[in-house]
Amino acid sequence: MPDFDAELQSELETLASEGLRRELRRIDSAQSTRVEIAGRTLLNFSSNDYLGLANHPAVKEAVIRATEKFGAGSGASRLICGSLAPHHELEEALAAFKGTEAALTFSSGYAAAMGTIPKLVDKNDLIILDKLVHASIIDATRLSGVPFRIYKHNDLNGLEQLLKGASRRPFVSGGPDSHLRRALIVTESVFSMDGDLAPLRDIVALKEKYGAWLMVDEAHATGLFGETGRGLAEACGVADQIEVHMGTLGKAIGSAGGYICGSRALIDFLINHARSFIFSTAPIPAQSAAAEAGLKLIQSDEGRKRRGSTWMLIDRLKNELIKTGWPLPAVQSAIIPLIVGAETKAVHLATSLRENGVLVPAIRWPTVARDKARLRVTVTAEHTVEDIRTLVMHLDAARERPMAHIQ
Ligand code: PMP
Repeated sequence: MPDFDAELQSELETLASEGLRRELRRIDSAQSTRVEIAGRTLLNFSSNDYLGLANHPAVKEAVIRATEKFGAGSGASRLICGSLAPHHELEEALAAFKGTEAALTFSSGYAAAMGTIPKLVDKNDLIILDKLVHASIIDATRLSGVPFRIYKHNDLNGLEQLLKGASRRPFVSGGPDSHLRRALIVTESVFSMDGDLAPLRDIVALKEKYGAWLMVDEAHATGLFGETGRGLAEACGVADQIEVHMGTLGKAIGSAGGYICGSRALIDFLINHARSFIFSTAPIPAQSAAAEAGLKLIQSDEGRKRRGSTWMLIDRLKNELIKTGWPLPAVQSAIIPLIVGAETKAVHLATSLRENGVLVPAIRWPTVARDKARLRVTVTAEHTVEDIRTLVMHLDAARERPMAHIQ
């Protein structure tokens, strides 16, 4: 198949020449502030394991116990014979944690979005998205075939204009699948590549004013925000005014998988309609057991302390970066984006850091807009003040290093 490979190879070469080619990097150790790559130990500032739970002894113990009792595999989809006790226990724990009637877990956050968005609305409705929502939400919206509009990032006026427009759209009635016209707003609470926050209180006020529905992806907020770590909705006091709470189990919770929390009706509806849930093998029992143990930790004294350490380190890093002249956008989370613009420059900086033993990813198009490439630094509870100093020292050195130096 020489033509097939040649065509793909040429595409890959184009990507490489634009600084956009991606490659897997094999990690030979557990998730931690130190990771082993090709026999070297690197200081890791790239993980979303914000509270350091992915390799926590209590989480690993839960995995072992669940595997011993329920085995390694899950056997089938949830609706056939894969609805194992650890999945139900996790869903009960998630609903209690988020303060909702019920919860449903998916094999990933991506699958949660893909299963949910296309079924909540139909072609008579409108989906309204913040410009910077995650790819899973964009892909789910496209899959739905439902008309959608995008407002400028965090622009409440733009959102209100779209909501006004939606309520003026003529109501199409009479068809077999017609129902009340509806606007579904979808936003993240903490934006994954910019680390800034959605104005959730104002968004909730607008959605109430216009009778819209609201879905909030708390992937990067769960575990870190709010009195008990439930997320930004808790911190803003609006958790019970959000119809659909979405998130992932693969970041602060320390496992992998995705979830939707909300009313009993919403969850029963998704069990019947969400295709990524219905037609996919259930997560393995260990995955749910790990997430349940992670949730328990988040709500414990230890979780509170871990949240406190993370926030202390975030402040420390922000101060150090400001002192050394790095332009910092309005970051209010564990995600610190150092926006450098050109893709090749971001790759140069990440390569230089890696050569000096620090792992920070270069984030490029299509994850972010072209010419908005950045280093995405993430801080976790297990970093130390010394780690922060080391990172800033190497960031400064990388900035001084001429581009030509890097192969
Ligand atoms: N939403 C956001 C904001 C994310 O950052 C991610 C993961 N990168 C997801 C959804 C998807 O979650 P998962 O990784 O569990 O598929």
